[in-house]
Amino acid sequence: APPGSSEAVRQVKLDKECELRVEVGPNFPLRLRLLTGTAEIFGTEIPQEIRLTFPPGHKFAVFTWYGATIEIDGTTETDYTADETPMISYINVHAVLEARRNRAKASPCDSDDSQGPRVIVVGPTDSGKSTLSRMLLSWAAKQGWKPTFVDLDIGQGSITIPGCIAATPIELPIDPVEGIPLDMPLVYFHGHVTPSANVELYKVLVKELAQVLERQFTGNIESRAAGMVINTMGWIEGVGYELLLHAIDTFNATVVLVLGQEKLWSMLRDVLKSKANVDVVKLQKSGGVVSRNAKVRQKARGSRIREYFYGPANDLSPHSNTANFSDLLIYRIGGGPQAPRSALPVGAEPISDRLRVAPVSVNQDLHHLVLAVSFAKEPDEIMSSNVAGFIWVTDINFESKKITYLAPSAGSLPGKYLIVGNLTWCE
Ligand code: ATP
Repeated sequence: APPGSSEAVRQVKLDKECELRVEVGPNFPLRLRLLTGTAEIFGTEIPQEIRLTFPPGHKFAVFTWYGATIEIDGTTETDYTADETPMISYINVHAVLEARRNRAKASPCDSDDSQGPRVIVVGPTDSGKSTLSRMLLSWAAKQGWKPTFVDLDIGQGSITIPGCIAATPIELPIDPVEGIPLDMPLVYFHGHVTPSANVELYKVLVKELAQVLERQFTGNIESRAAGMVINTMGWIEGVGYELLLHAIDTFNATVVLVLGQEKLWSMLRDVLKSKANVDVVKLQKSGGVVSRNAKVRQKARGSRIREYFYGPANDLSPHSNTANFSDLLIYRIGGGPQAPRSALPVGAEPISDRLRVAPVSVNQDLHHLVLAVSFAKEPDEIMSSNVAGFIWVTDINFESKKITYLAPSAGSLPGKYLIVGNLTWCE
């Protein structure tokens, strides 16, 4: 039956503590509503009688604590009911965090105890880290907290486009369809979809982000008590593992949730044993997590960038702007040729190649690259500054020396300096 026709409409009855796992078909959206009972999607309650429309390819689960009847309308790639989920263990984690938030709130605001839980979620790729982060945030928001979400996954972030690390306060349970609102996140641009392209830069940015949040927490008792949930990358071997330790340390994480890997859990437990205030907790991976291959990930990255410019429901109209080559001040971090030692003053150490900020003149390679607009006032602030947004280079004309780019809006850019990495996009 064609989607949308009455034959495609069906009801699913869910018993308590069961979930309906859905992968929307590739061509048409799926409509869903709650008929009876209560149910949630990754921690956010589904409103009664309101139809939710999920885009093609969307993967999600509807979970019920007490039983529910769901109606779905449209074609799915797969949909099945599961009665074995790790949800009880996840909600138990939430309960522990909740108690710690309450304790933090009740403590004198200048004491260390006023800091709520700092949770970091780690695990291999496709273990459900983003999903667990989302549930913990939505459950906390439902209870009136405004926890800070930190996303360190530059490959598949859920706050902004790929190639970035970012943080944002979560004030309401996360919308099951639209995800995290792109309000005013704090974003740092790495410019690559894996940290291995520039590990030093990744660490610097993680540190900057942590420092800014630390300052914000000092002045805001409410968000301090709510704490944070930090999502990480699925790269957990070698340098990836080092970067996890770096993040745990830099953010002063107090709870490390390890999803789906015994070995990682035991390694982290051993190295963190000496830290009395850090709990390392092993959690089961949900059988519902869908594995994504490189091609699917690549595609997901593209749609995140598209969403930035055009909106999640194609509801934004980006603007095509033209500028003279000389108007755009483009910089690259790392990758430039290293100055010869002989060019430095006697005794001076060359700064690491990887952290050098160098101007880039307009060249053909910029075509189809996504550039970040920095808040830096001077070039030497570029590395430590967060970014205001992004532009996408659509045309370079060497005759007229003009560059055409797509930006979320018309008019002048919110910053003078642009940062380039190797983040590309093709519409
Ligand atoms: P990454 O490898 O990018 O770090 P991850 O560990 O963060 O991935 P998620 O993004 O949480 O994994 O999950 C992968 C996919 O599986 C997502 O599309 C998510 O919506 C889906 N998913 C997670 N849990 C369930 C579930 N219980 N039922 C159905 N789909 C699910």
